[in-house]
Amino acid sequence: MRIVLLGAPGSGKGTQAALLVEELNLPHISTGELLRSAVKAGTDLGLQAKVVMDRGELVSDEIMLGLIEERLSRADVAQGFILDGYPRNIVQAEALDRLLERLEQPVDEALQIDVDVEMVIARIAKRAAQEDRSDDTEETVRKRMDVYAAQTLSLIHISEPTRQYCQSRM
Ligand code: AMP
Repeated sequence: MRIVLLGAPGSGKGTQAALLVEELNLPHISTGELLRSAVKAGTDLGLQAKVVMDRGELVSDEIMLGLIEERLSRADVAQGFILDGYPRNIVQAEALDRLLERLEQPVDEALQIDVDVEMVIARIAKRAAQEDRSDDTEETVRKRMDVYAAQTLSLIHISEPTRQYCQSRM
């Protein structure tokens, strides 16, 4: 099964992915983690990405597509994957569609995690202390939220009847 997880920074995508991984026994592909590994390893890509990540902005679509293409070409994704953090804008979503079409592995499910923004900001501040992430300062988190609202939310289309149904269930 191929699952895409969508949600704001700090909404709990990583936590939910870990639960799904345990349940479904599939690899967890987090583009944030792939980038942080590249930063730690000090590769050219990592050095380029760090500057952008520390500003709370999106790493270029070209770099991201290269990264995701390489990861999805490995043998461990044959039974599926949990994709966390990609796509984050329309260009990436279209690129992913084309890539998965070529690999004959279309997405089965896209799950959105929707949470209260102020709660997330408080949660991230806690995570910053635990994980020592340089992009978890309050200013950067607010920037990442803005980027999510401006670029990633447009990937999620909810029809009016569905929105009303969801609200009535809350
Ligand atoms: P995350 O751990 O998913 O919150 O990602 C941390 C940071 O990595 C983001 O704020 C971006 O700077 C970068 N990043 C992760 N995934 C992507 C992506 N699909 N496109 C562009 N930048 C990304």
